[in-house]
Amino acid sequence: MGGGEKMRGGEKMYSTSTPMPTHQLSDSNRGIMGNHNDNNARNLRVYQTWKGSNIFCFGGRLVFGPDVRSLFLTIFLIMIPVILFCAFVSQRLINDFQHQLGYYVVVICVILTANVIILLFLTSARDPGIIPRNLHPPEDEGSSISVDWPGSQVAGPSLPPTKDVMVNGMVVKVKYCQTCLLYRPPRCSHCSICNNCVERFDHHCPWVGQCIGKRNYRFFFMFVSSTTMLCLYVLAFCWVNIRKIMDTYHCNMWTAFLKSPVSGILILYTFICAWFVGGLTAFHLYLIFTNQVAIFSSPLSLCCSKSFTPHYAACKLFYFFADNI
Ligand SMILES: [Zn+2]
Ligand SMILES: [Zn+2]
Repeated sequence: MGGGEKMRGGEKMYSTSTPMPTHQLSDSNRGIMGNHNDNNARNLRVYQTWKGSNIFCFGGRLVFGPDVRSLFLTIFLIMIPVILFCAFVSQRLINDFQHQLGYYVVVICVILTANVIILLFLTSARDPGIIPRNLHPPEDEGSSISVDWPGSQVAGPSLPPTKDVMVNGMVVKVKYCQTCLLYRPPRCSHCSICNNCVERFDHHCPWVGQCIGKRNYRFFFMFVSSTTMLCLYVLAFCWVNIRKIMDTYHCNMWTAFLKSPVSGILILYTFICAWFVGGLTAFHLYLIFTNQVAIFSSPLSLCCSKSFTPHYAACKLFYFFADNI
């Protein structure tokens, strides 16, 4: 599981200023939380006392979001068209292409699909950059800013809701998270679904059932760009198949579609999917080059224009239908 706040060297300034007592300290390397002062203490791993909504597997080595079941839907939506392509479309390509080139078409399709599934798993099963909660509120360091503090009676009268910290010589205002009892680093947000603060939080993606943040953003980007490639690959060879039917039977396009309806269905399906994932790939390329994140304020908020891409619209639709089922 991700390192304790003391282990994230660059962000020490955001954690509590006093050293955490030994019996509260989590060892990020071994993931052991032990009460060394108690002779009868049981050593519990961090994930066993986790207060967020994550689901852990294999002794805490795999970290999923609470909606990990949606992963099966995503895998289904990837695998079914690939199976249809290999079963119904590729046969003609294998027969028509010379020098067994048709087999390479199938093999490359299978490799692309395996790559997409692995990247999906790496995105979904990793710590997205969760900042472990503090057990106690940090002590007030007499920070320079203290404005309205509506929760002061609850969370501690001395803690300001924001404070100023220096980052690369610039003053940055950081907010206090009353759930995680810590000052969030810049670009960190609290995911209401996972109930954790996540570094460089981008969004919570229901299609992968996980937050997208500092530690899995690269895999998420590779996942959507690889899925775009897979969609375009299947789309292109379905068109090739239709063209070959037209040439073989000297018929028009609609007759060719009737002769291979699976090709027609896959062309439509991959065109729509390529629009969703390709739009997201282009959007994240834009974000990477402009050094931004694509956070949207709440799952159903429609929507700041920056994050209104087909993928984010699909995420919101997912939440909408999930909430109404
Ligand atoms: Zn938080
Ligand atoms: Zn989340």
